[in-house]
Amino acid sequence: MCYSIPGKIFKIEDNIVTVDYFGQKRKARNDFYSELAIGDYVYAQGGFVVQRIPHDEAISILDTWRELFVKLEEIDLKLARPPKNLNKYLETSSEKELYQLANSVRSKHLGNSCCIHGIIEFSNYCRCNCLYCGIRNGNDRIERYRMDVEEIINASLYAIKVQNFKALVLQSGEDLYYNEERLVAIISNVMKENPIFLIMSIGERDFNLYKRLYDVGARGVLLRFETSNPSLYERYKEGRKLRDRLNLIKELHKLGYVIFTGFLAGLKDQTEEDIRRDIEVTASLNPEMFSFGPFIPLDDNESKPPIELILSTIAKTRIAYPDSRILVTTAVETLYGEDGLISGLASGGNSLMINVTPEKYRNLYKIYPGRRGIGAERAIKLLHSIGRAPTDLGIK
Ligand code: SAH
Repeated sequence: MCYSIPGKIFKIEDNIVTVDYFGQKRKARNDFYSELAIGDYVYAQGGFVVQRIPHDEAISILDTWRELFVKLEEIDLKLARPPKNLNKYLETSSEKELYQLANSVRSKHLGNSCCIHGIIEFSNYCRCNCLYCGIRNGNDRIERYRMDVEEIINASLYAIKVQNFKALVLQSGEDLYYNEERLVAIISNVMKENPIFLIMSIGERDFNLYKRLYDVGARGVLLRFETSNPSLYERYKEGRKLRDRLNLIKELHKLGYVIFTGFLAGLKDQTEEDIRRDIEVTASLNPEMFSFGPFIPLDDNESKPPIELILSTIAKTRIAYPDSRILVTTAVETLYGEDGLISGLASGGNSLMINVTPEKYRNLYKIYPGRRGIGAERAIKLLHSIGRAPTDLGIK
């Protein structure tokens, strides 16, 4: 699997490089290489240069991509035409036209780039007791697991070296077993072997711990605020305050972390106005990526949010924040299948996450029932069917 396209460095200004992908130009931060030159070929991911590629190797990879790339661009441009009569859309705002408009905005601002991140879920122990979540502390009906440090390093290196991921999320419940020493060992060993855009999703941990993890190479944090409505937040998240979570996200952004954040759509008693605010609050946190998804009830008898709720949330976000990166989540696939993923991508979404947790643990991270996840090869087929290419989306 090689789901990433190398680009050629076109311009260098301090630690910001401009990378050219068959004529599309994107910026990336160079935090990991000391001597990059104009004309070098690199892989970038999430706006970071993660790998330099020997000239000949890059030329031959690009040769295999050239024809396909042009074809994908054509498909995308065709699918992402704006609705015929925009004025009419503004008056009637039919759902379908809203999605179509969002898709055209995405294509106009970011071309057909789509990023794919890998995710390893390394522990389902959690000290929190969030009522919406299947791995909450108080749930004694699930099997718990923890991967040890070496297993996490090996699984990460497999995802990077064998599956060719350039961006990897390491996610767990809020599990204090992973103290500074263990987390530093994981990150520094992975980064030493193979620099990558590493994103931590470990919950509300101490600021100084996050600082140490940044120092050894972590560059992203995935931390949703879940809902911007303080009373809903406190109802679902026992003993926690929305303010504390938002402050942590802001502090981590100031520290230099790239932020992935967002909310759950479809919570009981959540209003349309709540979701509108959720979108605004996400944007105010300067995220690299919007990560919101449908809430999947733990009890099968409870009603699930309709697909229109998530598609219109994606579309409104795209229209309000045209250059945003918007993830179409596994929860979307779980509720609405692969068609749901395609619809999400065709309503303004431009990112997918692939579960690369080792097989024996994969079904144990049960944050909600019936969890499914598309494999990498299938995801690539799906993206190609709608004209999306794996060029880096660059720095915003
Ligand atoms: N400990 C980390 C990771 C939590 S699990 C943290 O606190 O950020 C990752 C995400 O799963 C959560 O942020 C939440 O938004 C989502 N999630 C949990 N329960 C869910 C449910 N029932 N339906 C949909 N998403 C859910």
